[in-house]
Amino acid sequence: MQTYLNLIKNIQSIDPIGYAKSRNYTNGAVSRLSAYIARGVIDTSLVLDTLMQEGYSFNEVKGFAQQLAWRDFFQRVWQQQLTAIDSDLKQAQTGVLHHQIPSAIIEAHTGIAAIDQAILELEKEGYMHNHVRMYTAFLACNVMGAHWLKPAKWMYYYLKDGDWGSNALSWQWVAGSFSNKKYIANQENINRFTGSNQIGTLIDCSYEALETLQIPESFKAASPLMLSTQLPIAEAFDIDESLTVLLYNYYNLSPTWHSNEKVNRVLILEPSHFEQYPISNNCLDFALELAKEIPDLNLYVGDFDSLQIAFPNAKFVFKEHPLNKHYRGTEEARNWLLTDSSVPAISFFNYWKKCEKALEKKYSSK
Ligand SMILES: Cc1cc2nc3c(=O)[nH]c(=O)nc-3n(C[C@H](O)[C@H](O)[C@H](O)COP(=O)(O)OP(=O)(O)OC[C@H]3O[C@@H](n4cnc5c(N)ncnc54)[C@H](O)[C@@H]3O)c2cc1C
Repeated sequence: MQTYLNLIKNIQSIDPIGYAKSRNYTNGAVSRLSAYIARGVIDTSLVLDTLMQEGYSFNEVKGFAQQLAWRDFFQRVWQQQLTAIDSDLKQAQTGVLHHQIPSAIIEAHTGIAAIDQAILELEKEGYMHNHVRMYTAFLACNVMGAHWLKPAKWMYYYLKDGDWGSNALSWQWVAGSFSNKKYIANQENINRFTGSNQIGTLIDCSYEALETLQIPESFKAASPLMLSTQLPIAEAFDIDESLTVLLYNYYNLSPTWHSNEKVNRVLILEPSHFEQYPISNNCLDFALELAKEIPDLNLYVGDFDSLQIAFPNAKFVFKEHPLNKHYRGTEEARNWLLTDSSVPAISFFNYWKKCEKALEKKYSSK
């Protein structure tokens, strides 16, 4: 885990030019910032501003900025569509054989060594490279015939950067329910980007052959997904009701939010949220570790309504988020690369065009 100060140093040392050339390779110069962005420790706008202060031109950071914009785009889709992102968004996923998770995926027995190894690493370390996430989703949905939702929840469970917006929408993008075409990759492509040289696997064929692939029986086996979160037991605490209560949660663990202000700080972990979107012990521990950077933070395990009943006069303040719609109090905006929230988040490339223009303007005037 990195402290906030270390994170800033790491952002300053990103090589955006090397990043753009190598990010698709599993040994490429990716930033590994996602877990901190997903947990709300830092945001995309801060990342880009910090990097730009290193003296790069916007053209030099554009490739990196575009990836940050993917994150903002998915957040905007989520903000605009809310729980609709839990279902097929643009069109129904085709070729669905079941709504479970392929056993070959959870058992890391796809027969594709680079993927199997990455699945084991995901379960242990909580990270998987973007390209391998795409390969895994492709295998689960487009080869093994799973509907995207259960496998997405499985991956989200293990990812320390688990962010339901990026997760659900990326799975839908691969499965063709949030894109115009299903994503496919063959063994040659996997070998090239993962540095492996495996031959003879099920997908060791041309792209034409992939389109009409017959799935072996062994890949049709599926398991129901049984995931749960073990939330910690919290101690009772009191607050000063004359002061504001800042609400932190799994998506907002910012140590700089209203720092140095005299307020109450409460981290709320709602069982109803984690029942719907379970996370592993590793992810929970990571989040609780990040929370230690927030001074005088009280932990509350329970739903928002019961917190409000416990502190009926409290003035709650929280950050806007699609999962917070039931909070009551004062909502503060999140930071974005493109602050104009009226831009419809439907097509990434239209969104990026607007974002690119705004960023070019912002950084050329400095
Ligand atoms: C099936 C699937 C599931 C995914 N689930 C998640 C998830 O739960 N949480 C999550 O944060 N990302 C998710 N992603 C997006 C992406 O894989 C990760 O953000 C990225 O791998 C994080 O590694 P990094 O920080 O080194 O990224 P870098 O390549 O260094 O990129 C910098 C930042 O840009 C953003 N970013 C980069 N690529 C993407 C992308 N394709 N989509 C959205 N944002 C991006 C991230 O915030 C990332 O930290 C998923 C992608 C796929 C294909």
